[in-house]
Amino acid sequence: MFKTWQSITLWKRVLIGLVLGVAIGLGLREGLGVEQAAEIGDTWILPWGDAFVRLIKMLIVPLIVTTLVAGVTAMGDPKKLGSLGLRTICLYFLTTFFAVSMGLAMGTALQPGAGVTYDAALDDNVGKVKEKIETAREKDFADRMLEIIPENPVEAMSEGAVLPMIFFSILIGIGILVAGKPADPVRAFFDAAAEVVMKITMLVMELAPFGVLALMAWVMATRGFEVLSNLMWLAIALYATCLLQIIFVYGLLIIRVVLNLPMKQFFRGIADAQGVAFSTASSSATLPVSISCAQKNLGVDKSVAGSVLPLGATINMDGTAIYLGLVALFAAQAAGIDVTMTQYLLVAVMATLVSIGAAGIPSAGLLLAATVLDVVGIDEEQTLLVIAFIFPFDRLLDMMRTATNVSGDIAVACAVAKWEGELDTDVFRSEAEL
Ligand code: ASP
Repeated sequence: MFKTWQSITLWKRVLIGLVLGVAIGLGLREGLGVEQAAEIGDTWILPWGDAFVRLIKMLIVPLIVTTLVAGVTAMGDPKKLGSLGLRTICLYFLTTFFAVSMGLAMGTALQPGAGVTYDAALDDNVGKVKEKIETAREKDFADRMLEIIPENPVEAMSEGAVLPMIFFSILIGIGILVAGKPADPVRAFFDAAAEVVMKITMLVMELAPFGVLALMAWVMATRGFEVLSNLMWLAIALYATCLLQIIFVYGLLIIRVVLNLPMKQFFRGIADAQGVAFSTASSSATLPVSISCAQKNLGVDKSVAGSVLPLGATINMDGTAIYLGLVALFAAQAAGIDVTMTQYLLVAVMATLVSIGAAGIPSAGLLLAATVLDVVGIDEEQTLLVIAFIFPFDRLLDMMRTATNVSGDIAVACAVAKWEGELDTDVFRSEAEL
């Protein structure tokens, strides 16, 4: 039994977990009623999902540090980092540009906010959301830039602050390269450590099907699908645009047309990461899985996977950008405001900036929507109402945008790896591992 289970490729097992989780959650809801299902979900199912999330989160710091240091030393020439960084940032902007444009087009075509009233935004909900918004608010841009340089790298690691960790690890890598021979033991240490942490990641991934099952069962048992009825058109617009972005922009445009690689292998290779992103709604938590998918399934070298993906999990959020544009149009339509061309442009710019600033954690995108809503003339009070109205249903939307965010990160990692000569196309094309 165990052998048969193990012989099924991981992404298929994750998919089985996902489908079973949905079925179990919905079954509980049908069988026991909404309240009891929610209670069972919270008390008996969620802890299993949380245990899995903790296990992968545990790997974020060791994985970024070891992979990135080993990656930079393997690259051999620190100058290569410049072109790698530039290509990555340009592609991240480009994919987000496509995302926002499609989101706005879809929001205009489907009119998700037309006729919506916010009766369901209960008062206590508004209060709760207000608090959450305060804590989620972005810091000053200058502060955030400064924080990339960690005063204390150990503190940055203990806080799981990704950008400072990237900064520090790159410097260690450069230090090892510049030091040359005397640093050989340190280089060997990081090489070996990166291997060890990757092995642990793969072990933890064996639990992914069960973690995904528990998380999906919990989401469905506590929320069901009916919650979406109020927001049906917003959900349809978001899911449709995200799917278009994943299939056409990442699959067809980047992988097939630009890189001339097979789409099928790409989607198989990222399926584990998509499954985990979908069920956790957190691109940060999914990071170890994205790194392992990129390296092991798609042949992206660790120098690229270790740098491009952590950066992507922090700043590249195409699904979130799509969503922010849609929420702005949703609110404008519900309020009967006609959005001008200039406002469209401003929404696009703001949605991009906010998506860059949002953390890769559940609901971060929605809680930061205020800036974007401001552009279309929604005042503060109304903004709170919109966010409070959507918040209880946000998880189901968040799952899709997080899966999109993560897919975009990996597609860009493949592109940068190919251009830098750091993509093993044999691994990418091979189906042996999949
Ligand atoms: N949950 C998303 C992520 O982790 C961010 C968002 O709320 O849009 O990527």
